[in-house]
Amino acid sequence: MIKEVALGVLMAALVFAATQGYDITPFIVLGGAAFLIYYMTEGRGRRFEMLGGSQDLDVVSNITFADVGGQEVAKRELVEALDFIRYRDKVKRMGIRPLKGILLVGPPGTGKTLMAKAAASYTDSVFLATSGSQFVEMYAGVGAQRIRSLFAKARSLAEKLGKQAAVIFIDEIEVLGGKRGKHSSHLEYDQTLNQLLVEMDGMNTDDKVSILVVGATNRPDLLDSALLRPGRFDRVVRVDLPDREGRLQILKIHMRSKPLADDVNLEELARDTFGFSGAHLESLANEAAILAMRRNKDDIGREELQESIDKVMMGEKLQRRPSEEELRRIAYHEVGHALVGEYVQPGSVMAVSITSRGQALGYTRQAPVDERYLYTREEILGQIAICLGGAVAEEIALGSRSTGAMGDFERAIELAKQMVFGGLSHLGIVSKEDLPPRELHEAVDRILKETEKSVLNCLNQERRVLEHVAQLLIREERIDGTDFRKMLQESRKSA
Ligand code: ATP
Repeated sequence: MIKEVALGVLMAALVFAATQGYDITPFIVLGGAAFLIYYMTEGRGRRFEMLGGSQDLDVVSNITFADVGGQEVAKRELVEALDFIRYRDKVKRMGIRPLKGILLVGPPGTGKTLMAKAAASYTDSVFLATSGSQFVEMYAGVGAQRIRSLFAKARSLAEKLGKQAAVIFIDEIEVLGGKRGKHSSHLEYDQTLNQLLVEMDGMNTDDKVSILVVGATNRPDLLDSALLRPGRFDRVVRVDLPDREGRLQILKIHMRSKPLADDVNLEELARDTFGFSGAHLESLANEAAILAMRRNKDDIGREELQESIDKVMMGEKLQRRPSEEELRRIAYHEVGHALVGEYVQPGSVMAVSITSRGQALGYTRQAPVDERYLYTREEILGQIAICLGGAVAEEIALGSRSTGAMGDFERAIELAKQMVFGGLSHLGIVSKEDLPPRELHEAVDRILKETEKSVLNCLNQERRVLEHVAQLLIREERIDGTDFRKMLQESRKSA
């Protein structure tokens, strides 16, 4: 208010001076420059604060660790670290240096933000969230100013709400905490990071409000080592993609308020969603509910859930409709993948479809029967065989191949290279750096040719089944894994 009055008086004085014949141009130029400087620093800083302010709505987090599914190790490590803040009097008495930062490292959607929120409620702190990219500015000093106002805001909010602690969550921290001197506009980046370090160094056990910075990143290798040294982010907690048990827990959390039909088996669903992150699973639960509502159902059935897995994995169904001829080719291609898939790992095919979704004209979805972390030579060869199954099936059924197998070949080549570098090819143990490209090429070629031959044999033997299932797929568009296996058994019996 005072500012507005002062501005008004100033304007009136300038107008009066102008009417009296004074030259007011220098005042206008000076005023303009002052405004520009204010806008670039303070003004934008304010806007940023307001951005943070819009999150005031959830500055008090009501997410607890019970809302975070799986991630048992990460939760345990985090809780252990948070106890330093929760029992701050004890920590102070023992003269322990306060915990200033925790770095959560893991792929997107695995629940890092969720954990930071749970950390805030566990320690009865206010919660402020921001992202590294919000500090990126062309103008030197703006990022540093934003860091200062972020910490100041955390303190004032905590005091206002009568809390003793605040959690500042910085997502994509590698954007502002990257190695110094590496960026093109490095001065600005360096100043921002320096300011963060200054703020973190300034915290001590006597502060009225203790602040914990929780950073999240998928690329810890990009971080400046100063950030990781003791006294800053000295706890690094890995938050990985959930395993089957973790997925089950997450599904239970997201299904708890949704009506489920009797045919839904969450354990089966957890198995079918291999490779899904928590965010994928949340989206799956939501999509299935939307689908059930559109179909006027009272509860969510297995069918909706299975269809939603396809949607979350591959994207929305496309309007694009391939020609009849192309559809036949796609059907043979997918059944080829599925047949080899069942041959290599019985029970692993989840669905075969010729519906175009996202980038794919059709797809075969597989889930490993057991989740593996190590692969033997035979298992990699099996994966290569599945990749080649599509193109080989096209050749057997239609006499020619198409460009539809390009992605499959890339994957097969990648796997073959893994075999070579893993010392599993005929070359034995090799050095990745010293192996001449020609020898690598020959080794990969040999693996692919041999596998192709065995896929050809396998599919030639299953030719009747290939034909039968492909025809059915053209009619039905999608076959569920269980039905696919039934069909296989029947076709084989009648052969
Ligand atoms: P990003 O790195 O992309 O920001 P993130 O790791 O921070 O991702 P979150 O934002 O925490 O991921 O997760 C997104 C959503 O996914 C959450 O709101 C929640 O609904 C769901 N989710 C993710 N992980 C879990 C989990 N472990 N338990 C329950 N829900 C989860």
